[in-house]
Order: sequence, then C-alpha cells, then structure tokens
Amino acid sequence: MLGIANPRSRVLVTGGAGFIGTVTCRRLLDAGHDVTIVDNGAEPRHDQARATLTETDRITTDLLTTDLLTTDLVDLLDGFGYIVHLAGRPGVQTSWGAGFAEHLSVNTLLTQRLLEAALVTQPRRIVLASSSSVYGDIADGAANEDDALRPLSPYGVTKAAVESLMGAYVARGVDAVALRFFTVYGRGQRPDMALHRIIDAALGGPVFGIRGSGHQARDFTHVDDAAAAIEAALFAPVSAGTVYNVGSGRPVSLRTLIDTVEDHLGRPVPLAPLEAVSGDPGRTAANITKARRLLAWSPAVTLAAGVADQIAHQREHALSAPAGSFSRGQAQPQHTGALA
Ligand code: NAD
Repeated sequence: MLGIANPRSRVLVTGGAGFIGTVTCRRLLDAGHDVTIVDNGAEPRHDQARATLTETDRITTDLLTTDLLTTDLVDLLDGFGYIVHLAGRPGVQTSWGAGFAEHLSVNTLLTQRLLEAALVTQPRRIVLASSSSVYGDIADGAANEDDALRPLSPYGVTKAAVESLMGAYVARGVDAVALRFFTVYGRGQRPDMALHRIIDAALGGPVFGIRGSGHQARDFTHVDDAAAAIEAALFAPVSAGTVYNVGSGRPVSLRTLIDTVEDHLGRPVPLAPLEAVSGDPGRTAANITKARRLLAWSPAVTLAAGVADQIAHQREHALSAPAGSFSRGQAQPQHTGALA
C-alpha cells in the first residue's frame, strides 16, 4: 500500500520522548497532525521532553509511560494510520556481553511485536529506525542501501534483524520502510553520545576520553534533518520494504568535530587519550541519493550550525541543572561517548 499524506493524520510515535522522537513529534505537530507518544523513559530528559511536548492540545498524554514490551500492541495501534517506531535501545558499547539481551529485546523483539500487531490493525505506513551500524566499517566511498551488511557490534546485528523482520512482515501485507540513521546530533542529543560529552567537557564537565587516534570519521546527521526524513518517509509514495540512508553525505573526523566545538566556544576541549575499542567502525559515510530521489528529502543543516544549536541547548540545560548534577571546575572522572 502506498502512503498518502492526509492534511491531518493520526500518528503514533514510539520512543516519542527520546532524542529523535521529541524533535519528530514537534515537527509532526507543527505540520498539523494529531500525535500520540508512547515512551516509558524515566530520565530527566524524558520528563523535559514530555513537558515541552504536552504544552499543545494536539498530543495525547495518557499513553506516555506505557512499556511497549508488555502492553497489548493491537489495542495500542488500533486507529492509527501512521506509526513512527523510534523506541529502542541505542548504543554500540552497551550491546556487548550481558547487555545484548536488553538490546535484542528492545530493538528486535519489540519491533517484531509491533509488526505482528500491524498485521491486525493494518496501518497505512510504519517507519522503522535502523542504523548505519548495519554496515560496519565503510573504509572507502559511501555506503549504498544495497551494499552487504557487515555489522561490527551486537547492536548493529539487532538493527539488521529489524530490517529482515520488516521484509518478512511486508511479504504478509504490512507497509513499513526503514531509515538507516547515521550518527544523529543536535539539541537534546542523548547524554551518552560523543558530541554531548565533548561539549560537556568544554563547558567545564568531565574531561573527554578520546578513543584511538581521533581520525575515526562519522557522517553526522542533524536531528532536524532526521525528523524531516521521518516525515517524508511516512507519507512518500514509496514501496513497502524499502530502506533509506539518512545522513549528511559528508563524513568528518572526531578531531574535526572537536575543532568545531573549540572554534565555536573559543576554548579547548579537555581531552584524555584512551585505547580504541571493538565495535566502533573506523569510518561511516552515507550515499543519500536514494532518499533525495524517492523521499524528496535533503539534509539542510551544516555541521557548524548544528553544533552551535547543540551547544546552545546544552548551555541552557547545564545552567538550569540542579546543584550536584554537574559540578563546574571540579576534578571529574573522564568519560568517552558513543559515536554511533
Ligand atoms: P533515545 O534513547 O533518546 O530514544 C529511544 C526512546 O525509546 C527512549 O526515550 C526510551 O525511553 C524509549 N523506549 C525504550 N524502550 C521502551 C519500551 N519498552 N517502551 C516504551 N518506550 C521505550 O534514542 P534516540 O537516539 O532518539 O534513537 C531513536 C531510535 O533511532 C533508536 O531505535 C535508535 O537505535 C535509532 N538510531 C539512533 C541513532 C542516533 O544517532 N541517535 C542512530 C541510528 C539509529
């Protein structure tokens, strides 16, 4: 079935109080849609997101803390024409060892439950969150959607499995497409991610532990561009079962990212060298021709503007954080950050 935009559609956003979810919900609300968010997150960032999003009368609040692993998803999905499925367990390093069980459950099993419910409720379109991690290392050039998947981490394996599940359910009549997000950044970025921690370090927080040479490169995607791609994928007349890279198409090194933060703030980022770790690719790079052509989507935010947006947001929240949550100028343990 092809997705066709209604002037006002009922959209369910799972993980809607998360980083990408918050910006996506705001974008869909601004476009005039009725949005219901489902998210069981209990961190302060989730409370902030809920508070911001529920300022409007076009968002349903009674489902906000539902756990999608246990709730009846046929009941939940009933009546929704469009579903954005962002609930998940991101993070490469946490997916090793015993952490894999949670990644498998929240990323893969949860998506299977959602797709199973969609067999019954038949939404017009589901957009699934996949990841550049399905590719593994992209040493040269840029990854195309039909390249072989060689995930380097258990997290990447859970996302590759999500895409395979999508294929199985599309064959049974579910309309779903998947977006492979490349390292998303911008206001509200998860605190475990590298840029968030780099900015924290520059603003007086813990020293940033830089893994390896600093030459590892990522194709950074601003969260506004990610949200625009989600909206485009929800309503574009594209075939069920297709996948799209969502990136900037311009990989930059970790060192360049740090330089961008330093240039913006006019001060150095305190760094401590750390050993490289398994699972983090040396380089990611997206070929975004397919999304440009079929979704009529293009990234619009430059790295400099996007980093400035994230710095402004982190500054504001650091200043308003309760005492003890972030002690400026004091010796702090160093920490690293997830690049993907
Ligand atoms: P996030 O952690 O901010 O958002 C995920 C949300 O899902 C959280 O708010 C969490 O509370 C919610 N959630 C988890 N388990 C749930 C459950 N059982 N029931 C209800 N809600 C649940 O992460 P994000 O960075 O916004 O990522 C969103 C999606 O995009 C994830 O699937 C992630 O794997 C994928 N992704 C993100 C990036 C990135 O760079 N941020 C890159 C590639 C893919």
